[in-house]
Amino acid sequence: MRRPVIAGNWKLNKTIGESLDLVRSLKPLVAEVTEVEIVVAPVYTALAAVAAELADSGIRLAAQNCYPEPSGAFTGEVSPALLKDAGCSHCIVGHSERRQLFGETDAFINAKTTSLLRAGLQVIFCIGETLEERESGQMFDVLSTQVREGLKDLTAQQMNNLIVAYEPVWAIGTGKTASNEQAEEAHAFIRGLLQGCFDQETAATTRILYGGSVKPDNVDGLMAQDDIDGTLVGGASLKAEDFARIVKFG
Ligand code: PGA
Repeated sequence: MRRPVIAGNWKLNKTIGESLDLVRSLKPLVAEVTEVEIVVAPVYTALAAVAAELADSGIRLAAQNCYPEPSGAFTGEVSPALLKDAGCSHCIVGHSERRQLFGETDAFINAKTTSLLRAGLQVIFCIGETLEERESGQMFDVLSTQVREGLKDLTAQQMNNLIVAYEPVWAIGTGKTASNEQAEEAHAFIRGLLQGCFDQETAATTRILYGGSVKPDNVDGLMAQDDIDGTLVGGASLKAEDFARIVKFG
């Protein structure tokens, strides 16, 4: 009942031309796939061009970030409405790189999430603990705070348009994936948190993705876990063949 989501986070990679090449290669490779929601997240400057290229496909477009205000004196920022205007259906928020490199707080992530949902976009809401937090036994507290503060004041109905991505920071870009059991343990815990914050139905229907060094050779084991409903893929989403293989998991 939870439709799988495979999302590619391209991060700060690829020109407009390279982005178009990638989706042109990807489209035929995943054309037959109907049961998986496929999402790609290029850089801001490539969004509109990629949106046009994806128009005849089922692949959805995400931005990697946004600013919560609708307009005004916010030099350099992009609002949810402008992302929609560029052709986005989704937006990633709370990625650990934004939390760590740009000092984003749970409150700011909550403001972005609310603003995106109001604008009618789907949110890919990222959480995850650092290695230090895991090793010092704080993992569950960290995830709990990120969920409670990041999803503060959202309604169960709004949660229909939100996808959670669990990305242990120590597994991102390191080639070190969480084991299937470590990932499942965290996902089951997060689902329990959603039940506490909202209700049983929200917990049962919200998709929770795993992210962190997902590759063609480890996706199948991860996707076989009960509470893993998809993956958020960084490095391996930059090659059409690898990403297509991940989309065709199992
Ligand atoms: P990775 O990145 O797959 O390269 O580890 C995942 C992410 O940061 O979303």
